[in-house]
Amino acid sequence: MNTKVKTLTTVSALLLAMALVTACGDTNKTASGGNQPAVNNAGANNQGNAAPGDSEADNSKNKGDQGNTSTDHSGADNTGSSEEGTGPDMAAASDVNSVAVLVNKEFALPDDYNPSDLVYPNVRFTFKEKIEKRMMRSEAAKALENLFDGAEKDGIYLAGVSAYRSHKTQTALFNRYVERDGEEKAKTYSAVPGHSEHETGLAIDVSGSDGKCAAEDCFGDTKEADWLANHASEYGFIIRYPEGKDSITGYKYEPWHIRYVGVDIASEIADRGITLEEYYGSIPVTANP
Ligand SMILES: [Zn+2]
Repeated sequence: MNTKVKTLTTVSALLLAMALVTACGDTNKTASGGNQPAVNNAGANNQGNAAPGDSEADNSKNKGDQGNTSTDHSGADNTGSSEEGTGPDMAAASDVNSVAVLVNKEFALPDDYNPSDLVYPNVRFTFKEKIEKRMMRSEAAKALENLFDGAEKDGIYLAGVSAYRSHKTQTALFNRYVERDGEEKAKTYSAVPGHSEHETGLAIDVSGSDGKCAAEDCFGDTKEADWLANHASEYGFIIRYPEGKDSITGYKYEPWHIRYVGVDIASEIADRGITLEEYYGSIPVTANP
């Protein structure tokens, strides 16, 4: 009955059904197509209401373009390291204090993790309140300011939609989804607490300044998304969940979700058209608690 996934193989469809969750889980995405508004979660008010509910988690809109494989990274000046020569710093992958920490469906942050250097980046957001989801770790915040400035010089006006999300907030969100839909179903559209990259303070969902298509698939067709795909790495950010990498990242294409990793790593990832997972290669799943 579902003709819109007919371009997917059975295996892919299964993978989508089983593996894909919504990385930016505050978007009130529902696998059931329901549209109940997110209610306020205690302690961290209104973290869940920025993005409109977006489409169901199928990924049928393939454009066949990774978007960033030919990224010009003129800003990739050296800061002393040489990734190609020495390989990735594997310790950074599991170091929660590193801006290159790897957080995904396998690797979680510790339950008690709270970034110590959160600040409010001085950039436009789609909302006015000075609340948790406006915050990022200081190095990422500074880089984000530079990125927004660079975009504006090219006539691209970006806005932040949702950045940091505390473990407490993610837990409240997830628990609410579990209550509503059951744990198995909740996992298909919301990140399990500890596994959301938003908890690092290094990731942010962005949109155009008009807020249209915020955290929705249609953002991929905007000039803002195009600019990000081509320039984010110059400022140390990567498109964390590129198109066609679902089976590696565990997430469908999210052109709006950018992650700070530093210019060196971002440039290498963009140049090679890879993901953060591929950058680190195979990592034992038992590395983190
Ligand atoms: Zn996100």
